[in-house]
Amino acid sequence: MADIIQLLPDHVANQIAAGEVVQRPASVVKELIENAVDAGSTSIKLIIKDAGKTLIQVVDNGKGMSVTDARMSFERHATSKIKAAEDLFQLHTKGFRGEALASIAAIAHVEMNTCQEGDEVGTQLKIEGSKIVDQGVTVTPKGTSLLVKNLFFNIPARRNFLKSDTVELRHIIDEFQRVALAHPTIQFDFYNNGSELFNLPASNLRQRIVHIFGGKTNEKLVPVEEDTEVVNLSGFICKPEFAKKTRGEQFFFVNNRFVKNSYLHHAVCSAFEGLMKEQTHPSYFLFLEVDPSGIDINIHPTKTEVKFDDEHALYAILRASVKHSLGQFNVAPVLDFER
Ligand code: ADP
Ligand code: MG
Repeated sequence: MADIIQLLPDHVANQIAAGEVVQRPASVVKELIENAVDAGSTSIKLIIKDAGKTLIQVVDNGKGMSVTDARMSFERHATSKIKAAEDLFQLHTKGFRGEALASIAAIAHVEMNTCQEGDEVGTQLKIEGSKIVDQGVTVTPKGTSLLVKNLFFNIPARRNFLKSDTVELRHIIDEFQRVALAHPTIQFDFYNNGSELFNLPASNLRQRIVHIFGGKTNEKLVPVEEDTEVVNLSGFICKPEFAKKTRGEQFFFVNNRFVKNSYLHHAVCSAFEGLMKEQTHPSYFLFLEVDPSGIDINIHPTKTEVKFDDEHALYAILRASVKHSLGQFNVAPVLDFER
Protein backbone atom coordinates (compact mmCIF):
# COMPACT_ATOMS: atom_id res chain seq x y z
CA MET A 1 0.00 0.00 0.00
CA ALA A 2 1.21 3.49 -0.78
CA ASP A 3 2.06 5.87 2.08
CA ILE A 4 -0.62 8.44 2.60
CA ILE A 5 0.61 10.80 5.32
CA GLN A 6 1.74 14.28 4.26
CA LEU A 7 2.87 17.41 6.03
CA LEU A 8 0.26 20.13 5.73
CA PRO A 9 1.27 23.19 3.73
CA ASP A 10 2.19 26.15 5.99
CA HIS A 11 -0.85 28.23 5.15
CA VAL A 12 -3.15 25.35 6.11
CA ALA A 13 -1.27 24.66 9.35
CA ASN A 14 -1.41 28.38 10.16
CA GLN A 15 -5.12 28.50 9.55
CA ILE A 16 -5.69 25.56 11.88
CA ALA A 17 -3.54 27.12 14.60
CA ALA A 18 -5.40 30.41 14.11
CA GLY A 19 -8.60 28.68 15.18
CA GLU A 20 -7.17 28.42 18.69
CA VAL A 21 -5.32 31.71 18.94
CA VAL A 22 -7.89 33.96 17.30
CA GLN A 23 -11.42 33.42 18.53
CA ARG A 24 -12.72 36.91 17.88
CA PRO A 25 -11.50 40.46 17.18
CA ALA A 26 -10.58 40.85 20.86
CA SER A 27 -8.01 38.05 20.50
CA VAL A 28 -6.24 40.04 17.79
CA VAL A 29 -6.30 43.15 19.96
CA LYS A 30 -4.76 41.23 22.86
CA GLU A 31 -1.96 39.73 20.77
CA LEU A 32 -1.07 42.99 19.03
CA ILE A 33 -1.06 45.06 22.21
CA GLU A 34 1.02 42.45 24.02
CA ASN A 35 3.55 42.50 21.20
CA ALA A 36 3.69 46.29 21.48
CA VAL A 37 4.34 45.99 25.22
CA ASP A 38 7.05 43.37 24.66
CA ALA A 39 8.69 45.74 22.15
CA GLY A 40 9.34 48.20 24.97
CA SER A 41 6.83 50.82 23.82
CA THR A 42 6.02 53.81 26.01
CA SER A 43 2.96 54.72 23.96
CA ILE A 44 0.43 52.40 22.32
CA LYS A 45 -2.53 53.39 20.19
CA LEU A 46 -5.44 51.09 19.38
CA ILE A 47 -7.77 52.00 16.55
CA ILE A 48 -10.74 49.83 15.62
CA LYS A 49 -13.76 50.07 13.33
CA ASP A 50 -17.02 48.20 13.72
CA ALA A 51 -15.84 46.49 16.91
CA GLY A 52 -12.78 45.18 15.08
CA LYS A 53 -14.73 43.38 12.40
CA THR A 54 -13.51 45.66 9.63
CA LEU A 55 -10.35 47.11 11.12
CA ILE A 56 -7.97 46.67 14.03
CA GLN A 57 -4.82 48.75 14.14
CA VAL A 58 -2.17 48.92 16.84
CA VAL A 59 0.52 51.58 16.57
CA ASP A 60 3.46 51.50 18.97
CA ASN A 61 6.69 53.41 19.48
CA GLY A 62 8.69 50.33 20.45
CA LYS A 63 11.91 48.98 19.02
CA GLY A 64 10.56 48.05 15.58
CA MET A 65 11.91 45.28 13.34
CA SER A 66 14.60 44.82 10.70
CA VAL A 67 13.56 43.86 7.15
CA THR A 68 14.33 40.19 7.80
CA ASP A 69 12.63 40.13 11.19
CA ALA A 70 9.55 41.77 9.71
CA ARG A 71 9.21 38.81 7.33
CA MET A 72 10.19 36.26 9.96
CA SER A 73 7.62 37.56 12.44
CA PHE A 74 4.86 36.03 10.31
CA GLU A 75 6.40 32.55 10.32
CA ARG A 76 4.88 30.04 12.69
CA HIS A 77 6.92 29.27 15.84
CA ALA A 78 9.16 32.22 15.03
CA THR A 79 9.92 34.34 18.07
CA SER A 80 12.63 36.60 19.46
CA LYS A 81 11.44 35.96 23.01
CA ILE A 82 12.68 32.48 23.86
CA LYS A 83 15.47 30.36 22.44
CA ALA A 84 15.38 27.13 24.40
CA ALA A 85 12.93 25.06 26.43
CA GLU A 86 14.54 26.26 29.70
CA ASP A 87 13.48 29.81 28.86
CA LEU A 88 9.88 28.76 29.37
CA PHE A 89 10.59 28.74 33.09
CA GLN A 90 12.04 32.24 33.08
CA LEU A 91 9.50 34.15 31.05
CA HIS A 92 9.57 37.93 31.25
CA THR A 93 7.59 38.65 28.12
CA LYS A 94 3.90 38.39 27.27
CA GLY A 95 4.60 36.38 24.15
CA PHE A 96 6.80 33.35 23.59
CA ARG A 97 4.84 30.98 21.34
CA GLY A 98 5.64 32.77 18.08
CA GLU A 99 2.18 31.99 16.77
CA ALA A 100 0.13 35.15 16.93
CA LEU A 101 1.22 37.01 13.82
CA ALA A 102 1.34 33.83 11.72
CA SER A 103 -2.18 32.97 12.87
CA ILE A 104 -3.61 36.44 12.32
CA ALA A 105 -2.02 36.70 8.86
CA ALA A 106 -3.56 33.36 7.93
CA ILE A 107 -7.11 34.59 8.42
CA ALA A 108 -7.04 38.31 7.67
CA HIS A 109 -5.54 41.01 5.50
CA VAL A 110 -2.54 42.41 7.35
CA GLU A 111 -0.34 45.43 6.73
CA MET A 112 2.79 46.02 8.78
CA ASN A 113 4.87 49.19 8.85
CA THR A 114 7.92 49.02 11.05
CA CYS A 115 11.07 51.04 11.59
CA GLN A 116 13.98 50.70 13.97
CA GLU A 117 15.71 53.53 15.82
CA GLY A 118 18.18 55.38 13.60
CA ASP A 119 16.96 53.85 10.34
CA GLU A 120 15.95 56.33 7.66
CA VAL A 121 13.37 54.07 6.11
CA GLY A 122 11.35 51.23 7.45
CA THR A 123 9.70 48.13 6.03
CA GLN A 124 6.20 47.71 4.73
CA LEU A 125 4.67 44.25 4.31
CA LYS A 126 1.23 43.23 3.16
CA ILE A 127 0.03 39.69 3.81
CA GLU A 128 -3.28 38.10 2.93
CA GLY A 129 -4.11 34.59 4.01
CA SER A 130 -0.43 33.78 4.82
CA LYS A 131 0.81 35.08 1.43
CA ILE A 132 3.02 38.13 1.13
CA VAL A 133 1.28 40.25 -1.51
CA ASP A 134 3.48 43.33 -1.29
CA GLN A 135 6.77 44.31 0.29
CA GLY A 136 8.65 47.60 0.14
CA VAL A 137 10.29 50.43 2.00
CA THR A 138 8.33 53.12 3.75
CA VAL A 139 8.92 56.25 5.76
CA THR A 140 7.37 55.63 9.14
CA PRO A 141 8.14 56.71 12.71
CA LYS A 142 10.22 54.47 14.95
CA GLY A 143 8.06 51.58 16.11
CA THR A 144 5.53 49.30 14.52
CA SER A 145 2.04 49.65 13.14
CA LEU A 146 -0.01 46.54 12.46
CA LEU A 147 -3.24 46.88 10.58
CA VAL A 148 -5.63 43.94 10.44
CA LYS A 149 -8.56 44.08 8.04
CA ASN A 150 -11.32 41.67 7.09
CA LEU A 151 -10.80 39.24 9.93
CA PHE A 152 -11.92 35.68 9.09
CA PHE A 153 -12.32 36.64 5.41
CA ASN A 154 -11.50 33.04 4.48
CA ILE A 155 -13.39 31.35 7.34
CA PRO A 156 -17.04 32.31 6.74
CA ALA A 157 -18.27 30.10 9.58
CA ARG A 158 -16.18 32.05 12.10
CA ARG A 159 -17.22 35.35 10.65
CA ASN A 160 -20.86 34.43 10.88
CA PHE A 161 -20.47 33.40 14.50
CA LEU A 162 -19.25 36.83 15.58
CA LYS A 163 -21.64 38.52 17.96
CA SER A 164 -23.12 42.01 17.71
CA ASP A 165 -20.76 44.98 17.67
CA THR A 166 -21.75 45.75 21.26
CA VAL A 167 -20.68 42.31 22.44
CA GLU A 168 -17.47 42.20 20.39
CA LEU A 169 -16.56 45.72 21.53
CA ARG A 170 -17.08 44.65 25.16
CA HIS A 171 -14.59 41.81 24.66
CA ILE A 172 -12.09 44.21 23.13
CA ILE A 173 -12.48 46.68 25.98
CA ASP A 174 -11.90 43.82 28.46
CA GLU A 175 -8.65 42.80 26.77
CA PHE A 176 -7.55 46.41 26.46
CA GLN A 177 -8.18 47.11 30.14
CA ARG A 178 -6.29 44.01 31.24
CA VAL A 179 -3.12 45.08 29.47
CA ALA A 180 -3.56 48.75 30.38
CA LEU A 181 -3.89 47.86 34.09
CA ALA A 182 -0.80 45.68 34.00
CA HIS A 183 1.23 48.50 32.44
CA PRO A 184 0.23 51.82 34.00
CA THR A 185 3.52 53.45 32.99
CA ILE A 186 2.68 53.01 29.30
CA GLN A 187 0.43 55.58 27.67
CA PHE A 188 -2.61 54.08 25.91
CA ASP A 189 -5.11 55.54 23.46
CA PHE A 190 -8.15 53.71 22.15
CA TYR A 191 -10.44 54.81 19.32
CA ASN A 192 -13.56 53.06 18.05
CA ASN A 193 -15.19 54.35 14.84
CA GLY A 194 -13.26 57.59 15.16
CA SER A 195 -14.26 58.41 18.73
CA GLU A 196 -11.89 58.15 21.67
CA LEU A 197 -12.95 55.54 24.23
CA PHE A 198 -9.88 55.74 26.45
CA ASN A 199 -7.02 58.17 26.80
CA LEU A 200 -4.74 56.87 29.52
CA PRO A 201 -1.66 58.92 30.36
CA ALA A 202 1.40 57.21 31.80
CA SER A 203 0.85 56.98 35.56
CA ASN A 204 0.79 54.61 38.51
CA LEU A 205 -1.62 51.77 39.23
CA ARG A 206 -4.04 53.76 41.41
CA GLN A 207 -4.34 56.53 38.83
CA ARG A 208 -4.67 54.02 36.02
CA ILE A 209 -7.59 52.34 37.79
CA VAL A 210 -9.22 55.72 38.34
CA HIS A 211 -8.68 56.75 34.70
CA ILE A 212 -10.32 53.55 33.50
CA PHE A 213 -13.14 53.13 35.99
CA GLY A 214 -13.89 56.76 36.85
CA GLY A 215 -13.06 59.35 39.50
CA LYS A 216 -15.32 57.84 42.13
CA THR A 217 -13.19 54.70 42.22
CA ASN A 218 -10.38 56.45 44.11
CA GLU A 219 -12.09 56.51 47.50
CA LYS A 220 -13.10 52.87 47.17
CA LEU A 221 -9.58 51.51 46.83
CA VAL A 222 -7.84 49.82 49.73
CA PRO A 223 -4.21 48.84 49.16
CA VAL A 224 -3.04 45.26 49.62
CA GLU A 225 0.64 44.59 50.19
CA GLU A 226 2.41 41.43 51.32
CA ASP A 227 5.88 40.03 50.77
CA THR A 228 6.44 36.35 51.45
CA GLU A 229 8.79 33.70 50.13
CA VAL A 230 6.07 32.28 47.93
CA VAL A 231 4.60 35.47 46.53
CA ASN A 232 4.87 39.24 46.45
CA LEU A 233 1.35 40.51 46.54
CA SER A 234 0.29 44.06 45.72
CA GLY A 235 -2.63 46.01 44.33
CA PHE A 236 -6.03 47.11 45.56
CA ILE A 237 -9.33 45.74 46.71
CA CYS A 238 -12.53 47.78 46.71
CA LYS A 239 -14.24 48.43 50.03
CA PRO A 240 -17.03 45.93 50.62
CA GLU A 241 -19.78 48.55 50.67
CA PHE A 242 -19.07 49.03 46.98
CA ALA A 243 -19.49 45.35 46.16
CA LYS A 244 -21.57 44.94 43.06
CA LYS A 245 -24.58 42.85 42.16
CA THR A 246 -23.06 42.30 38.76
CA ARG A 247 -19.78 40.48 38.92
CA GLY A 248 -17.78 43.66 39.44
CA GLU A 249 -14.22 44.38 38.37
CA GLN A 250 -12.06 41.41 39.18
CA PHE A 251 -8.48 41.29 38.04
CA PHE A 252 -5.68 38.91 38.93
CA PHE A 253 -2.29 39.43 37.38
CA VAL A 254 0.38 36.80 37.79
CA ASN A 255 3.80 38.15 36.92
CA ASN A 256 1.97 41.03 35.28
CA ARG A 257 -0.14 38.82 33.05
CA PHE A 258 -3.93 38.84 33.44
CA VAL A 259 -5.19 35.39 34.46
CA LYS A 260 -8.50 33.86 35.40
CA ASN A 261 -8.42 31.63 38.44
CA SER A 262 -11.55 30.58 40.30
CA TYR A 263 -9.57 29.12 43.21
CA LEU A 264 -7.82 32.42 43.95
CA HIS A 265 -11.07 34.28 43.35
CA HIS A 266 -12.59 32.14 46.07
CA ALA A 267 -9.74 33.09 48.41
CA VAL A 268 -10.56 36.78 47.98
CA CYS A 269 -14.30 36.25 48.32
CA SER A 270 -13.82 34.27 51.51
CA ALA A 271 -11.81 37.15 53.00
CA PHE A 272 -14.80 39.40 52.35
CA GLU A 273 -17.17 36.96 54.01
CA GLY A 274 -19.53 38.58 56.49
CA LEU A 275 -18.70 42.05 55.18
CA MET A 276 -20.83 41.96 52.11
CA LYS A 277 -24.47 41.59 51.33
CA GLU A 278 -25.35 38.25 49.82
CA GLN A 279 -25.31 37.97 46.04
CA THR A 280 -22.79 40.76 45.68
CA HIS A 281 -19.23 40.45 44.43
CA PRO A 282 -16.07 42.22 45.52
CA SER A 283 -13.94 44.17 43.05
CA TYR A 284 -10.17 43.77 43.12
CA PHE A 285 -7.00 44.49 41.21
CA LEU A 286 -4.41 42.10 42.59
CA PHE A 287 -0.88 41.49 41.37
CA LEU A 288 0.97 38.31 42.32
CA GLU A 289 4.69 38.12 41.65
CA VAL A 290 5.89 34.53 41.87
CA ASP A 291 9.02 32.70 40.79
CA PRO A 292 8.38 32.02 37.07
CA SER A 293 9.70 28.49 37.51
CA GLY A 294 6.83 27.77 39.92
CA ILE A 295 4.08 28.40 37.37
CA ASP A 296 2.97 27.10 34.00
CA ILE A 297 1.12 29.48 31.74
CA ASN A 298 1.54 27.32 28.68
CA ILE A 299 -1.79 25.59 29.17
CA HIS A 300 -3.72 27.27 26.40
CA PRO A 301 -2.63 29.47 23.47
CA THR A 302 -4.40 32.48 24.96
CA LYS A 303 -2.44 32.11 28.23
CA THR A 304 -5.23 33.26 30.53
CA GLU A 305 -4.96 30.12 32.61
CA VAL A 306 -2.11 29.39 34.94
CA LYS A 307 -1.04 26.41 37.00
CA PHE A 308 0.77 27.04 40.28
CA ASP A 309 3.09 24.62 42.06
CA ASP A 310 1.89 25.86 45.41
CA GLU A 311 -1.73 26.80 45.01
CA HIS A 312 -2.71 26.16 48.62
CA ALA A 313 -0.06 28.47 50.05
CA LEU A 314 -1.15 31.19 47.63
CA TYR A 315 -4.75 30.76 48.68
CA ALA A 316 -3.90 31.14 52.36
CA ILE A 317 -1.64 34.15 51.83
CA LEU A 318 -4.13 35.88 49.59
CA ARG A 319 -7.01 35.36 51.99
CA ALA A 320 -4.99 36.52 55.00
CA SER A 321 -3.63 39.62 53.25
CA VAL A 322 -7.00 40.75 51.98
CA LYS A 323 -8.49 40.23 55.44
CA HIS A 324 -5.62 42.18 56.96
CA SER A 325 -6.15 45.10 54.57
CA LEU A 326 -9.86 45.14 55.23
CA GLY A 327 -9.17 45.26 58.96
CA GLN A 328 -6.41 47.84 58.77
CA PHE A 329 -8.50 50.27 56.83
CA ASN A 330 -11.27 50.04 59.37
CA VAL A 331 -13.65 48.30 57.10
CA ALA A 332 -16.19 47.23 59.66
CA PRO A 333 -19.11 44.98 58.84
CA VAL A 334 -21.67 47.09 57.07
CA LEU A 335 -25.10 46.54 58.50
CA ASP A 336 -27.00 49.15 56.62
CA PHE A 337 -26.38 48.16 53.04
CA GLU A 338 -28.86 50.57 51.56
CA ARG A 339 -26.84 53.71 52.23
P1 ADP B 1 5.58 36.03 20.12
O1 ADP B 1 5.04 37.31 20.64
O2 ADP B 1 5.08 34.83 20.86
O3 ADP B 1 7.07 36.02 19.97
P2 ADP B 1 4.26 36.82 17.65
O4 ADP B 1 3.79 36.06 16.48
O5 ADP B 1 3.26 37.62 18.39
O6 ADP B 1 4.99 35.81 18.63
O7 ADP B 1 5.42 37.80 17.15
C1 ADP B 1 6.55 37.24 16.51
C2 ADP B 1 7.78 38.12 16.68
O8 ADP B 1 7.59 39.35 15.95
C3 ADP B 1 8.04 38.58 18.10
O9 ADP B 1 8.81 37.62 18.81
C4 ADP B 1 8.78 39.88 17.90
O10 ADP B 1 10.16 39.65 17.71
C5 ADP B 1 8.22 40.42 16.60
N1 ADP B 1 7.18 41.45 16.84
C6 ADP B 1 5.84 41.27 16.80
N2 ADP B 1 5.19 42.43 17.05
C7 ADP B 1 6.14 43.37 17.26
C8 ADP B 1 6.11 44.77 17.57
N3 ADP B 1 4.97 45.45 17.73
N4 ADP B 1 7.31 45.42 17.69
C9 ADP B 1 8.48 44.76 17.53
N5 ADP B 1 8.56 43.43 17.25
C10 ADP B 1 7.43 42.74 17.12
MG1 MG C 1 3.06 37.90 20.52
